[in-house]
Amino acid sequence: MELYFSIFQKVSLFVLISKINLFQKRNLTYNPMKIIDLRSDTVTKPTKQMLEAMFAAEVGDDVYGEDPTVNALEQKIARLFGKEAALFCPSGTMTNQIAIRIHTQPQEEVICDRMAHIYNYESGGIASNSHISVRLIHSPSGKFTPAEVLENINPDDIHFAPSTLVALENTVNKGGGCYYNAAEVAAISQVCKEKNIKFHLDGARIFNALVALDETAQTHGQYFDTLSVCFSKGLGAPVGSALLGTKAMIQKAVRVRKSFGGGMRQAGYLAAAAIYALDNHVDRLAEDHKKAKVLSEEISKFSYVSEVVPVYTNILIFKLIDQINPTEFSKWLKENGILANPFGKQSIRMVTHLDFDDEMLDEVIKILKKFQ
Ligand SMILES: *Cc1c(COP(=O)(O)O)cnc(C)c1O
Repeated sequence: MELYFSIFQKVSLFVLISKINLFQKRNLTYNPMKIIDLRSDTVTKPTKQMLEAMFAAEVGDDVYGEDPTVNALEQKIARLFGKEAALFCPSGTMTNQIAIRIHTQPQEEVICDRMAHIYNYESGGIASNSHISVRLIHSPSGKFTPAEVLENINPDDIHFAPSTLVALENTVNKGGGCYYNAAEVAAISQVCKEKNIKFHLDGARIFNALVALDETAQTHGQYFDTLSVCFSKGLGAPVGSALLGTKAMIQKAVRVRKSFGGGMRQAGYLAAAAIYALDNHVDRLAEDHKKAKVLSEEISKFSYVSEVVPVYTNILIFKLIDQINPTEFSKWLKENGILANPFGKQSIRMVTHLDFDDEMLDEVIKILKKFQ
């Protein structure tokens, strides 16, 4: 059968296609209000150069250990922290959970702070993945001391769970991004060694701590049995974390990662972003810290703010006066183009990052001044 279009049909089709084109073009460029997202440093999107590095990545099947870019990243990050080996994983939750799993046996106990991510924000994974209990240290800022670790180690008695792991977070997320310096870490590490307890770092923001302290990765790396390091926080990669440790630990970790469903295939595209981030986005974290500081100084002047938690790195937490509901405040911010989450009682958290520039900083201050 011959396909026949009348002039009318041809014109209609042309108009329809043009309309679709116009609609698509408009959608690409239409941005009614530039949203400033301060909910977390996880919200960054890859830069053009990072995307180019990802595009150019040489890849293979990483479950077979054949992805050259993943292998290069694992070697690079292990060496940076002075560890024997590393394992690339989809998330920091996974690297933490794998570490807890390989260091403990069911019925044992991990010691961490009550503010720890592994306790608060990993969906109860400690219980379901490792079948161990948790001992919480109640330090005011989320930073604990060697003495507090000692107090929380269980005696060797059948009534108690054996304390076999201490997990430390650096920087401390719920503690307003405060950090442990190398000497503080060393002292806690010493206690762990004496008591034959494994020592893990949740270093989701360890680079923020290192930049703020001007200390090296290797200095901190030597004190831990395992370290979890995130590429998708301040470093600005789209996905990924690494677990670092001895060869034997990482060998165990590979099997646990597989059982968690974290074995990835051509993950080199993601590893390339992490390599790019390590090469280009570490030193610039100082800019995020500076912006958080400037913002905190402005915020402390507002009459609707009762307290600003001291800013150490890129996390800013402030308390609203009792008359203001933080959820309502957060809603008002959103209506004015700013995203920031309520963070516990009366508090709001803002996190500065790679996609938050000077112009946005001025804009946020301008908008916050308008709130009454
Ligand atoms: C973000 C974060 C993690 C890991 O989170 P994922 O979203 O699973 O990558 C771990 N610890 C801390 C302190 C964090 O802030």
